[in-house]
This record gives sequence, C-alpha cells and structure tokens, in this order.
Amino acid sequence: MDTVTITPQIYQLSLKIVNVFIIRIPTGLILIDTGPAGSKQLIFDTIKKLGHQPDDIKHIIVTHSHHDHSGSLADIVRDVKATVYMHPHDAMLVREGVAYRFQLKAINRLLGIATFGSRIKLPYINIKPVEQITEVNDGDWIPGVGGLRVIHSPGHWPGQIALFYPGNGGVIIAADVAENYSQLKLSPGFQDKDECLATIKKISGFKFKIAVFSHGEPILNNAAEIFTIAFGIN
Ligand SMILES: [Zn+2]
Ligand SMILES: [Zn+2]
Repeated sequence: MDTVTITPQIYQLSLKIVNVFIIRIPTGLILIDTGPAGSKQLIFDTIKKLGHQPDDIKHIIVTHSHHDHSGSLADIVRDVKATVYMHPHDAMLVREGVAYRFQLKAINRLLGIATFGSRIKLPYINIKPVEQITEVNDGDWIPGVGGLRVIHSPGHWPGQIALFYPGNGGVIIAADVAENYSQLKLSPGFQDKDECLATIKKISGFKFKIAVFSHGEPILNNAAEIFTIAFGIN
C-alpha cells in the first residue's frame, strides 16, 4: 500500500483497487471512503504510521455506496466513534446492506428475494449494513470539520457526492466523477452520461488547484484548467 501526501493536511492511501483519503483537522481525522471489505487493518496501520490512532477518526464521509467505497464501513464504525455522512440516496442503500442496484428493477427484485435474510451475499452487491448515517445534501458543509463542502455528483451513481476543500488553493475530492490513470476521463460504468457531464460542469465552477480521484493519480497543479480542457467545458 502506498501513502501519498497531497497537502500537509490531506493524505491518499492507495488500496490496490481504490484510493481512500485522510484529512487532518484540529479535532482529529476525517476518513473519506473505506475501501472494499477487508481494508480496515490497512487503513488503521496507515493512520498509525501518520502518528495518529484509529480513535482519532471523528468523521467518515462515504462518497457513494459502491463496495470499493463502503465495504469496510461497518468494520470501521464498530471500532471507532465516528459520525458517518452520505447522500440520502446511498445512505438508504447502505442501511440495507446494498452496495449496488441494477437499473432493471426486475433484477433487483430477484436479487432482493435471493439475498434477503439468507446467507447468500454477493460481492459487489452486498456489504455489511450500517444504520447510523447522517445524511448530507448538495451545498451542505460537513458539520464540525472546518470546511468541507458536499457536491452532489450524480451520473456515475445517483447518490454520489464529491467534496470541495477550500484550503491549499482548493482541492476537489472527485470520488468516481472521473478517473485519472493515463488520462482524465469519466469513470467507467456510469449510469447516465449527460448527468456525468453536468456534474463535471458543476465541479468546474469551483476554484481548485488540486484534484484527487478514487481511481487514478492525483492532479497536484492547475487541476481546474485540466478539467476544462479534458472535458471541453467553456
Ligand atoms: Zn463507483
Ligand atoms: Zn469506485
């Protein structure tokens, strides 16, 4: 596992398939996303390497319900006293232990019958449920963290949120709004391309120098300009 210092306050931990983020605030730590099931120990070990304790996690923001973002949430909240924040759409899914729903309602119904109350749990679709989630909406500032704004970011997934951190010249935590491996582009598996592009346009309205992604490399300079060029926004 790799830890990248994005700014003196923000760290990126790369958990093979996904990046999660840790932000230092005066009262402790914010954890953004939790990785797939089984990531808890890696996250806790990294927190110790950064000179903190897992108990320092006071806030957990889950950008959306997909298993690579929410899969270790239940294990982490069992061990630390943190407030969990999600968009209402995805909070509802995680309370039911659902990471992913198909667009075809009939498939969801069949899966619901097969998995509800049974021992059958499908990776990618089922996660351990978490009941206590504080719901946040577009434009909200996450309470008690000293400046982290919610940007509702549908397109890839209806209940996805990205985050804007005004410090350090402006940082966008883009979740799966886009990915940045060899080039900046929409994350695969999106549900609605027009909504994805509307989300990109909304994010481009913020003033930011840095952008980080759940999948891919961070952009540490001129991120707003790079977004504008990559997605042809004017
Ligand atoms: Zn996703
Ligand atoms: Zn993802």
